[in-house]
Amino acid sequence: MADPVFRLDENVAGSWYVDDTCIACDTCVGIAPRHFVLTPDDRHAYVWAQPVTTTDVAQCQQAMGACPVGAIGHD
Ligand code: SF4
Repeated sequence: MADPVFRLDENVAGSWYVDDTCIACDTCVGIAPRHFVLTPDDRHAYVWAQPVTTTDVAQCQQAMGACPVGAIGHD
């Protein structure tokens, strides 16, 4: 389960985030590209846009469920 203490600095402000356990597998980016992106050096993903609509939230929830290491959090 993601830990807000280890939230990555690149995450945009808001309730959704990626923590430092991310292994840059790209799964969340594939599911919710409007919200998750990899760093230019492919080191890890981060949230670049918080979800607003119910569709956005559903995509982020799907990404969170698919993350193989549980690196996506929602406080
Ligand atoms: S699905 Fe999880 S491990 Fe994969 S890039 Fe996204 S946050 Fe990182």
